[in-house]
Amino acid sequence: MPDSPNEPLLRSAVQLLESLEAAGVQQVAKPRPIAYTQVSSQESPSQVPLGPSTEAAAPRAESLEVLCDEVAGCTLCPELAGSRTQTVFGVGNPQARLCFLGEAPGADEDRLGEPFVGPAGQLLDKILGACNLSRNDVYILNVLKCRPPGNRNPASGEAQNCRSFLDQQLQLIAPEFICCLGAIAAQNLLGTESAIGRLRGKLHEYRGIKVVCTYHPAYLLRTPSAKKHTWDDMKLLMREMGTPVD
Ligand code: SF4
Repeated sequence: MPDSPNEPLLRSAVQLLESLEAAGVQQVAKPRPIAYTQVSSQESPSQVPLGPSTEAAAPRAESLEVLCDEVAGCTLCPELAGSRTQTVFGVGNPQARLCFLGEAPGADEDRLGEPFVGPAGQLLDKILGACNLSRNDVYILNVLKCRPPGNRNPASGEAQNCRSFLDQQLQLIAPEFICCLGAIAAQNLLGTESAIGRLRGKLHEYRGIKVVCTYHPAYLLRTPSAKKHTWDDMKLLMREMGTPVD
């Protein structure tokens, strides 16, 4: 019986598998289609273009789910991966004009798998309500997807490890505005060491996205006198979005 037309291909595949086995490879992962732009190890996050991906044939929500699955299996930061209950990817409208960016999950977020669900999250909900917004109108995410033990600040290496996930989220959502909640989020996104008191109250830009920085809701709970500054920041943001509030 003559060889099938696929015979050479099959022989090549068998040879490849045999050479991999000889090299000690036990398992070959099945490749899966990626619908978003990957950040290569040679490419800094700032070199990755934001905006709708040309490969994003699947809906944004589906692409975010694929990325969420990848984050769930990430062990780049051994301490965080070893202590987390689960990763906390982000929630909200995949087509939101506005993203809220925090620093990292806390104990409640780690337990429930959703960002800003504790007392600080309840205050964020009130801030959203005062701006005539709900969680369904915006997207909420963090710089880190895993809780740092004891709620310590993210280490710079951890923030770098997680940066490609953040940038891929932003690329898929393609928001027009980002509101950074607290110094850690603002400094990481904008690549600055300036204090939050100097960053708030004005517009910044991150790769074509307008950015407003304000105090973290947890800080507002400890320092109620700062709430008036956050309200000023939200009014600035809403004016820029074309939906001013009093
Ligand atoms: S913080 Fe980010 S990079 Fe680090 S282990 Fe978690 S998902 Fe991976």
